[in-house]
Amino acid sequence: MVQNCIFCKIANKEIPTELIYEDNDTVAFNDINPTAPTHILVIPKKHIESLNELDDKNIMAALLNTVKEVTKKLDIKNYRTVINTGKEAGQEVFHIHLHVISGRPLKWPPG
Ligand code: AMP
Ligand code: ZN
Repeated sequence: MVQNCIFCKIANKEIPTELIYEDNDTVAFNDINPTAPTHILVIPKKHIESLNELDDKNIMAALLNTVKEVTKKLDIKNYRTVINTGKEAGQEVFHIHLHVISGRPLKWPPG
């Protein structure tokens, strides 16, 4: 738990947020500023700044497992999973998160 980290506060339930999925290591919730009809964030409960700092294979697996659980629960079969790592790549919140984006045609390559 890191002070002033908004995603730690969500994982810790200090900011009431409807959780789509929760297990021992992760939570999933809707992005506050969705870029598509479905835009979900998957985060570890533990504070890890970015993929650069993630070295725990159990947490890596848990994050992808949660993507699978959420897409299964919502019956989503077409979606994009994105991890922005570092400011120049678009990372704004420095508590690692996976975006799960769906519900509209998605262009490639991303901008
Ligand atoms: P990134 O740019 O990859 O760091 O993504 C950060 C994402 O977090 C953005 O899509 C924001 O809309 C989202 N976000 C920021 N604050 C909140 C919040 N309190 N609840 C849900 N999503 C949030
Ligand atoms: Zn955090």
